[in-house]
Amino acid sequence: MAVIYEKVALIGLGLIASSMAHAMRQRGLVATVVGHAKSAETRAAAMELGFCDAVFETAAEAVAGADLVVLAVPVGVMAQVAAEIGPHLKPGATVTDVGSVKQAVIDAVAPHIPEGVHFIPGHPIAGTEHSGPRSGFATLFENRWWLLTPSEGTDATQVARLRALCEAMGANVDEMDAPHHDLVLAVTSHTPHLIAYTMVGVADDLRRVTDSEIIKYSAAGFRDFTRIAASDPTMWRDVFLNNKDATLEILGRFTEELFALQRAIRKGDGAHLHDYFSRTRAIRRGIIQAGQDTAASDFGRGAVASGRGADEKKQ
Ligand code: NAP
Repeated sequence: MAVIYEKVALIGLGLIASSMAHAMRQRGLVATVVGHAKSAETRAAAMELGFCDAVFETAAEAVAGADLVVLAVPVGVMAQVAAEIGPHLKPGATVTDVGSVKQAVIDAVAPHIPEGVHFIPGHPIAGTEHSGPRSGFATLFENRWWLLTPSEGTDATQVARLRALCEAMGANVDEMDAPHHDLVLAVTSHTPHLIAYTMVGVADDLRRVTDSEIIKYSAAGFRDFTRIAASDPTMWRDVFLNNKDATLEILGRFTEELFALQRAIRKGDGAHLHDYFSRTRAIRRGIIQAGQDTAASDFGRGAVASGRGADEKKQ
């Protein structure tokens, strides 16, 4: 494939940035990838794994001369990083981010973007419960959505260019406004994570009573919760602190529905439960039909794991 950006600077070198680097390099979408991460350990890992041509001790050095700068740090440090790189951005460059929350990131980053630099916020809806530079793999974005939330008046040519990069990494791209993004993600990702954290927390309390039974007899439902609840604590703390209103709105609705189901169980209202579960089953079918998951009983994880293993060997 043709080179889309000559030089890309990745700020933060964890799961998302390293996956982008692998995908961009394997597909020949960029000529040079440079990076910066907070710790010397992560910077050394990026060089050892070979997904960056160069890494720098400061973000300011990393962004010098870059055509595309990707902010791939936790949402809570976006402002600090943007303030540091602002004066060093090349005129005409594009800055994007991959934060899981959009409005708060825009509020944090936009004030630091100088005139003549394009800021196009983004969010790849792709991830795993793993983090760090060793967790990335080139196929992470394949057939996943990548949402862009440019403000009105953003240079359409530069939006199209960033879109082309995301698509060339295998993603499907959509554009929407930031508040809408935050509400949709509160439903599809943020609140489900909070529920998983809670359920695993409840089980942990019970474990003190039932000893190892919860692990020993862990059924598929609970195992899925534990996988989600293993996600990075820093990232998820920042998601909830920065998507407060939408998450609280959805949690309020969730609580109302939970009370309704609780009442149905207490009253023995089987029809209510059956209707409800039929509706939710149809949603699952819709997700599979849209190609966003597989119908395999292991949720296709065996296939994903072996694909990922093969990918890692290529790095
Ligand atoms: P990650 O694997 O934990 O990586 C985070 C990276 O940010 C690390 O390299 C870390 O460096 C670096 N970092 C943290 N604070 C920094 C600072 N002050 N200056 C420079 N670098 C700093 O995280 P991730 O999963 O890639 O997530 C990155 C972003 O993508 C987050 O905003 C998250 O919301 C978003 N996102 C995540 C997922 C997901 O499922 N994981 C999906 C979509 C979007 P050290 O290693 O040196 O600490």
